[in-house]
Amino acid sequence: MRTIRGRLTVGYAIALATTMFVFAAAILFLQTPEPFGDIDDRLRVEAELIANIILESWESGPVLETESASGREVLAPRVSNLFQSVDDYVVAVGLRGDPIFAAAPRAPVSGVGDTIFTVGVPQDREGQAELASVFETLAALVSRSEDQPASGTVRAVGSPGNLRYFVRPIIRGPDPGPGVSGIVTATPTGGLALGPGRILGGVLLSAPFILVASISIGYLLAGRILAPVDEIIDEIEAITDGRSLHRRVAGAESTEELARLTSTLNNMLIRLERSFLSLRRFTADASHELKTPLTVLRSGVERAITHPQAPPSVLEVLEETLIEVNRMTELVDSLLMLARTDEGRAPLHLERADIRDLLGEIAETASILAEQSSVDVSVEIPTRPMKMAIDRSRIRQLFMNLLSNAVKYTPRGGSVAIGCRKTDRDVVFTVTDTGIGIAAGELPYIFDRFWRADVARSRTGQRPGVGLGLAICKWIAEAHGGSISAKSKRGKGTTFTVTLPVGD
Ligand code: ADP
Repeated sequence: MRTIRGRLTVGYAIALATTMFVFAAAILFLQTPEPFGDIDDRLRVEAELIANIILESWESGPVLETESASGREVLAPRVSNLFQSVDDYVVAVGLRGDPIFAAAPRAPVSGVGDTIFTVGVPQDREGQAELASVFETLAALVSRSEDQPASGTVRAVGSPGNLRYFVRPIIRGPDPGPGVSGIVTATPTGGLALGPGRILGGVLLSAPFILVASISIGYLLAGRILAPVDEIIDEIEAITDGRSLHRRVAGAESTEELARLTSTLNNMLIRLERSFLSLRRFTADASHELKTPLTVLRSGVERAITHPQAPPSVLEVLEETLIEVNRMTELVDSLLMLARTDEGRAPLHLERADIRDLLGEIAETASILAEQSSVDVSVEIPTRPMKMAIDRSRIRQLFMNLLSNAVKYTPRGGSVAIGCRKTDRDVVFTVTDTGIGIAAGELPYIFDRFWRADVARSRTGQRPGVGLGLAICKWIAEAHGGSISAKSKRGKGTTFTVTLPVGD
């Protein structure tokens, strides 16, 4: 996860998952051992009440009677009617451990009819069987209580689920007593309390959904919050060089932090622009100021060279001086031009011209260069007119730079070719040589100012230059709405491709 958005999303999901589990753990931990206090009290009071009713009724006569249909002993209705209002499960257990009375909540069942369970219970067989099983489960609790009052939770089959119960044994005297061994009251716990297993199960079951939802929400939220950062990045990326330093990062007022970031970046841009401007101004002024003394210097040296009485040793020195002065003039011209282009003060003078005329002029210069350096130079001139909107002197400068580089970096016996072809909207020129080539690692830098592959040789005179030629070529091509690129293989040669739009 290397994006802030990803990290925020993961962090958010982890925080949520931890919260969920801590919450579940807290519920488990804080669960009191007696969560059913009120229910237990109610069940106890009900059981006591029923037991008392039975015992008091017994004072005045038998509380059991024989059910005519089944022949079983059941609690007499005169007794059970007295606690009809109890709205919980009630089971009275006989001496043999079998239910003599049973009632379900809101469905009191008396011992009238075929069996003690049929009145008020569900009509369907399944429901009846389920209820009978609940009563049996509850009745069994009496014998298990060993004549001690007891409360607890028991699992009943079917819909009631967990039942909270209270057992009230009825201690028999020396005689069989009322014939009742105990009373059980019970009520479903329903969702009142969740056991540890259910809590954990609930958390585990819901966790994937909650996590997926939270990850999606977190991802969207982080995306929305970070969208202005993306905008800032795009805007800063658009500031590619010194010429776009006038741009400012806009917007991003959404949060205080981003507003601060924006204003900090803008202040930095202002400072950068100022120092760039003063640097450009300095370069432009310095090169401009150098032009006049250099011109004076050159004409002085040229005059001295032509002096008839100058001795050969002095002439030699003067010639070397002239070469250096010329090189310096070239450098100052290039510097001045680049400084002007940076300031936007180097407008193009576009005119529609037949590129064949220009290529013809270049071919003439090329033949002179070829002769001097023993390199075969060929220029392909299209047979049909090829008109395009160009600044003639700049384009000439572009090709002369490329051509002189090609000749300069091609050993004797090699060849240089200028090609030209038209595509739909552009004219593509190529300058190919069979020279020393450029290493792949150096190709990305060749259009940078003052970049030279072999700095050590620049002053030796073997391949003189200052490293500004290609930077100027790039500016000229781009100022025409075109582009320039280079392909090269070390030791095999180089091809520069210039693409210029035909224009209207
Ligand atoms: P320079 O004045 O040094 O020729 P350029 O800007 O014209 O400056 O070129 C920059 C560098 O690119 C050169 O120093 C040279 O290393 C490399 N280069 C340019 N053209 C060629 C070429 N045709 N073959 C090999 N290397 C070249």
